[in-house]
Amino acid sequence: MADRPTPKAWIDAIHPYVPGKAKSADGRELVKLSANENPLGCSPTVIDALAAAHSPALYPDPDAKELRAAIGALHGIDPARIVCGTGSGELLHGAVQAFAGTGDEVAFSRYSFSLYPLLAHKVGAEPVLAEAREYGADVDALLAAVTERTRVVLLDNPNNPVGSWLDAGEVARLHAGLSPDILLVVDQAYAEYLAPDLDDGGLALAAAHNNVLVTRTFSKAYGIAGERVGWATGAPALVDMLNRLRGAFNVTSGGQRAALAALEDQAFVRRSRQANSAVRARFADRIAMLGNHGLSIVPSEANFLLVLFEGALTAEAAMGALAEAGYAVRHLPGQDLPHALRITIGTEAQMDEVAAVLRREAEAAG
Ligand SMILES: *Cc1c(COP(=O)(O)O)cnc(C)c1O
Repeated sequence: MADRPTPKAWIDAIHPYVPGKAKSADGRELVKLSANENPLGCSPTVIDALAAAHSPALYPDPDAKELRAAIGALHGIDPARIVCGTGSGELLHGAVQAFAGTGDEVAFSRYSFSLYPLLAHKVGAEPVLAEAREYGADVDALLAAVTERTRVVLLDNPNNPVGSWLDAGEVARLHAGLSPDILLVVDQAYAEYLAPDLDDGGLALAAAHNNVLVTRTFSKAYGIAGERVGWATGAPALVDMLNRLRGAFNVTSGGQRAALAALEDQAFVRRSRQANSAVRARFADRIAMLGNHGLSIVPSEANFLLVLFEGALTAEAAMGALAEAGYAVRHLPGQDLPHALRITIGTEAQMDEVAAVLRREAEAAG
């Protein structure tokens, strides 16, 4: 007999999720370009909504009725087909938990969201990585990775940590190649950052098929990551599964109020998107000028850029120099990216300084 409770082997094997850093090794506060948060903060309507009087003694609406109605109105979705979560993370977890377990497989592309392998491990399932193409998801490789044990396919689109994006034709081709008993999750955490003419068709697939779930979040362009609100939509049976698995009072009163207020200010979302695409393009240009030093970027549709370091300046040394200058960025050696840094797009002034530090370091390294 063991002398203490023994965790399930697959739980014991989990490497906890590693969040983006905000402090340097010597304890200084850094500008956090490591967690894809909105550099504009959030809409002032959110601040007002959170400050307005409410009763913390009372439980929140367990069904987030008003919030689901507002999301449904904005996106043209029946609110009965929407479920809210403690961030979209809770719903991604539920989607995997409902359909995969011991002996099953959960497939996704290499360089996907670092949460995905954790979701599979948490339920005892096997994460299966499909090879990427130029760092982006490759539909043919994803379909080739599917076996009779595959229960769920996860696609973050745009993808994190690369920012690559599959268009509607490719997402439809992926869906068409999956048997109807395999769940396709299209994780659209960065959808609000896409140019208005870009739509991967995920919401239309989720409206039309029994095996497609789309997840969205208020953590990125809406700028309320701290309030932990996300939502998912799909066929009634999928929404029913997530409702069974989610926490009973999973979105706090403050979170529901904040998300409602955030939805009302679409002008803020538009400003965030426009600022992001302009600053991202400017930063990408500056990195492109360092090509002779082995620096390059992978094209991104999201609010971050993956910078590759394939010359004398290593990603690790660059991260150290950026920390010295006051900036935290994301190094992901555990995701097969030891030669890259994921840098969240901050303000123009911040990105100009980051580019200047990288230029100085690249020139000094030779
Ligand atoms: C940030 C992110 C999320 C959002 O997580 P929340 O739990 O909603 O904060 C989901 N998917 C991807 C790919 C992300 O990068």
